[in-house]
Amino acid sequence: MGWLRTTESHPTAAQIHSGLADDFAGLSLGTVYRNLEVLVGQGRVKAVRSATGAVRYDGNPEPHHHFICEACAGILDVPFGEPRGLRSRLERESNLRVRRVSIDFFGLCGPCEDSAGSSGE
Ligand SMILES: [Zn+2]
Ligand SMILES: [Zn+2]
Repeated sequence: MGWLRTTESHPTAAQIHSGLADDFAGLSLGTVYRNLEVLVGQGRVKAVRSATGAVRYDGNPEPHHHFICEACAGILDVPFGEPRGLRSRLERESNLRVRRVSIDFFGLCGPCEDSAGSSGE
């Protein structure tokens, strides 16, 4: 699934399937799903839920946060680190051990914001 690592679009399984279909003739969508499940189980691919509830797949292995557009269901990587002090505060104030941090931001992406602002004109 090297193809997934070359895209930042957080594709659905169906989009991954059509992206791979050129290179792997006869590849079935079921095979793509099964491979994705294995990769998610290994922690090599992350499953991300979009605003519409559809599962998207993320081949970026680095810890990162997401911006989820509520209009087009797009998912963008947020290139910021972890908010300072959040993890240590949580661990101090509760008996929890944090292993990773992933924050979802929700709103409108650029193109959706533009079309929302220009509607009615
Ligand atoms: Zn959008
Ligand atoms: Zn991502």
